[in-house]
Amino acid sequence: MTTDAAPSISSETGSSPSANIGVVGMAVMGSNLARNLASREGNTVAVYNRSPERTRTLVSEHPEAGFVPSESIADFAASLQKPRTAIIMVQAGAGTDAVINQLVDAFEPGDIIVDGGNALFTDTRRREAAVRETGIHFVGCGISGGEEGALNGPSLMPGGTAESYETLGPILRSIAAVAEGEPCVTHVGTDGAGHFVKMIHNGIEYADMQLIAEAYDLIRRGTGKSPAEIAEIFAEWNKGELESYLIEITAEVLRQVDADTQLPLVDVILDAAGAKGTGAWTVQTALDLGVPVSGIAEAVFARSVSSKLEQRAASRTLPGPDGFQVEDADGFVEDVRLALYASKIIAYSQGFDAIIAGAEQYGWDIKKGDIAAIWRAGCIIRARFLNRITEAYAEDPNLVALVTAPFFRDAVDTAQAAWRRVVVQAAQAGIPAPAFSSSLSYYDGLRAERLPAALIQGQRDFFGAHTYKRVDRDGVFHTDWSGDRTERSA
Ligand code: NAP
Repeated sequence: MTTDAAPSISSETGSSPSANIGVVGMAVMGSNLARNLASREGNTVAVYNRSPERTRTLVSEHPEAGFVPSESIADFAASLQKPRTAIIMVQAGAGTDAVINQLVDAFEPGDIIVDGGNALFTDTRRREAAVRETGIHFVGCGISGGEEGALNGPSLMPGGTAESYETLGPILRSIAAVAEGEPCVTHVGTDGAGHFVKMIHNGIEYADMQLIAEAYDLIRRGTGKSPAEIAEIFAEWNKGELESYLIEITAEVLRQVDADTQLPLVDVILDAAGAKGTGAWTVQTALDLGVPVSGIAEAVFARSVSSKLEQRAASRTLPGPDGFQVEDADGFVEDVRLALYASKIIAYSQGFDAIIAGAEQYGWDIKKGDIAAIWRAGCIIRARFLNRITEAYAEDPNLVALVTAPFFRDAVDTAQAAWRRVVVQAAQAGIPAPAFSSSLSYYDGLRAERLPAALIQGQRDFFGAHTYKRVDRDGVFHTDWSGDRTERSA
């Protein structure tokens, strides 16, 4: 029911607290999450937004939700049962800090503040440490699935203390997406662990999208198939091992026809990809941790290249091959499918390496199999093969690289001849496939018995006396390059 004049919000002060959970921030994400919470048995939801109009509109449009609205943080706090639990869904950055400060003033020790926005995990660690001083719990919670997920069931990645999860867990389980009967939420680890894992999720999402885009481009340019025809290929792939939300929506996007021009929509969309920064955060963090996430990095850089429109226009006349026509279209499509599958395995393997490194660096006890399990529904990278990741980590929790697990090793083995053909064909045809080719190089780097890094060590020792280790004895060595070139222990 919608009323023309939104009612003003009555103050809760003086009345007994009636809500078991509150949401601050009534823009699209917060209002959808509040509606999701209100629709679950046993929840009464307090709502607050800086500008009261948003709250009034939500309350008048959704009387069925039984929201408990407030126009001040003090009233909002008073409307919550203790220990108070409030989820913040406001603009990341300064907006989040402002709301945290207000809640800290209004809340008491033992209460729980949850930040469900897209915060950088280092900000979450800083905020958690500061809020902890007051005796209030602070939980950074990664939320994936966009507006639709917030409303119908997201994948949830909460950090914070185990104690806060005792109160928060049942509430989050009640609103999370469900995969094979299990809610897609787990206590990821302390302080910023939840936002860290959400960041890696987004990084994998970047890689997956770039790989799919490369597959589409190669098929289109190699076979001359139309977007509508390629949509059918993706729809078919979605019935097999590549089954995933991103493959599913790719078919939808490719099928779409522009109403104005009657051209495929994909042909009238400007080919300059935007980014909100979480992919870049993943790569920056991985560089700091020393973890190669080359597939994710290539995906971030590919978006950068695409958006350099002036540079691309000036470079259009650079010499090089321009496209190709394959003889066996069906065979090529199958090769591309296998290359996509193998490269996707690498993207996940690298993403989980980053999770392992982050857990080591920050002292988080992250259960890798549980993370794969909570990504099975509600989130953008939901995919059939996440079950295989959970199984791989269940079999060997100390797996050194996901790609070495028997299931994935066999899958890549099956795919690798096709993968190599596709990378060669792309290079020969002058078609950029940075994520396909960097994933293959990474794979070959992992499996190499010897890497040319030995030569790099020699160069470093030559110009900077950086020393090197030897394969045949312990110690650190330096060669006197500018003198008689004898070696000594360093
Ligand atoms: P948004 O556009 O990011 O932010 C608008 C909301 O923030 C409004 O409620 C606004 O209040 C409030 N706000 C901004 N500055 C404030 C301040 N200084 N003090 C108090 N409130 C302030 O909203 P959104 O798109 O719904 O996103 C909310 C959060 O979810 C963000 O962190 C965003 O990054 C994240 N998000 C996640 C996903 C996902 O898939 N997980 C998708 C989208 C967004 P007023 O109405 O008073 O201006």
